[in-house]
Amino acid sequence: MAVMTLPPRSPRPLLNRRLAPFGTTIFAEMSALATRTGSINLGQGFPDTDGPEEVREAAVRALRDGRGNQYPPGPGVPELRTAVAEHQLRRYGLAYDPDTEVLVTAGATEGIAAALLALVEPGDEVIALEPYYDSYAACIAMAGGTRVPVTLRPSGDRFTLDLDELRRAVTDRTRLILLNTPHNPTGTVLTRDELAAIAALAVERDLLVVTDEVYEHLVYDTAEHVPIATFPGMRERTVTLSSAGKTFSYTGWKVGWVTAAAPLVTAVRTAKQYLTYVSSGPFQYAVAEALRLPDDYFTGLREDLRAKRDLLAGALAEVGFGVFRPQGTYFITADITPLGEKDGLAFCRSLPERCGVVAVPTLVFYDDPEAGRAHVRFAFCKTEGLLREAADRLRGLKGLQGS
Ligand SMILES: *Cc1c(COP(=O)(O)O)cnc(C)c1O
Repeated sequence: MAVMTLPPRSPRPLLNRRLAPFGTTIFAEMSALATRTGSINLGQGFPDTDGPEEVREAAVRALRDGRGNQYPPGPGVPELRTAVAEHQLRRYGLAYDPDTEVLVTAGATEGIAAALLALVEPGDEVIALEPYYDSYAACIAMAGGTRVPVTLRPSGDRFTLDLDELRRAVTDRTRLILLNTPHNPTGTVLTRDELAAIAALAVERDLLVVTDEVYEHLVYDTAEHVPIATFPGMRERTVTLSSAGKTFSYTGWKVGWVTAAAPLVTAVRTAKQYLTYVSSGPFQYAVAEALRLPDDYFTGLREDLRAKRDLLAGALAEVGFGVFRPQGTYFITADITPLGEKDGLAFCRSLPERCGVVAVPTLVFYDDPEAGRAHVRFAFCKTEGLLREAADRLRGLKGLQGS
C-alpha cells in the first residue's frame, strides 16, 4: 500500500518573529539574583509596605459585600469611572464624561497594550522616549509598529529631551508619540515648555499622543506634573494612562485607567475587551475611595518619598556614583563611570556579590545600549530602615574598590 509522504515542514521557532527579540525581563533576572544572594532588592520598583489601611479595608468590604466578585461592567464600575473623572477635573481642570471618556484597565500595563493595539497599524512608526519602560517596546512590536526612539540625554543632574531630535524623528509614517512623564527610569519630569513644544508638534503633524502618567503624584521639589492633554488642541488627540499601583502602593491590584475623548476611548476599549475583558472587581471599588483621599495623603506620600530619595541619593553620591537627582518617580539613575566602571550590566551582575544590593542596568531600555551603558537604576520606594541598610552596604563597595 502506497503511503503518501508529505514534505517535511521546516523547523520554526516557537516564539513568533514579533516577540523573538524579547526574552526574560531584566527584572526577573535581577530579582532572582537578589533572592539567590539574599541581597536588598532595589532593582524592581515596588514598595515593601502596603498603602493606606482604609483603602485595604475598602477592598475587604467590597469583597464581603459581594461588590465586584462577578464580572464588573466592561468599561469599569461606575463608582471608579466617576472618581477618575473627578480626579482629572479637580487636579488638572480636565473634564471627562465618566460614561464615555473613562475606561478601567488591568493596570496601566493593559492600557498601554490596548492603546497601541487599537491605534497602531502595521508599519506605523511610534516615537518613544528612551530609555523606555520595558513593556513599550514589546507592545509596539505586538501591534506591528516600528519603534522610533528619541533619547533623553544627561545634562547636568537631569535627563533632558532634545526637541529638535523629536521633531526630526517625525515622518509621514508617524502615528503617535508615546510619552512618559514623570519618566521611569530617569526621574525626569517634562516641563511645561517641553510639553507645550511636544503638543504643538503633535497638532502641527496631526499625531496622536499616548501618555503614561502613572507617577503623576510622585513629583518633588519645584517640579510640577502637567498632563499634556491640558494643552491647546490636545484633548482630542491624547490618550492618558494612569493607575493605582504607584499612587496608592498597591501594585498587585492592577487597577489602571484611560482617560481620553470618546472616539479614542471607544477604540482602546475595542482592543481591551479582548485582552482581559474586565479585571480586579472588588479592588475597583477600593480605588474609587482611594482617589478621594484628602490632599494630606498625597502630600504625605510625596514628602515621605522625597526624604527617601535624599537618603539614597546622598549615599550614592558619597560612594562616588554620579547621581541624577530625580524630580519624579521613585527611581534614581546613577552613573557608574566615576567608580571606574563602564558596563552597567556587568556591574549589576556583580553588585550582589560585592555588597549585597541589587540594581538594574538601564542599558536594556535603549535601542542603542551605548547611550545607557554606564547607568544603573535604584528604587527608593522601600522602608527607611531597609534603605539605610542598603546605603551602609553600598558604602562597603567603596572599600572593595580600594578607594
Ligand atoms: C509601573 C509602571 C507601569 C505599570 O503600571 P501597572 O498599573 O502596574 O500596570 C506603567 N508604566 C510605567 C512607566 C511604570 O513604571
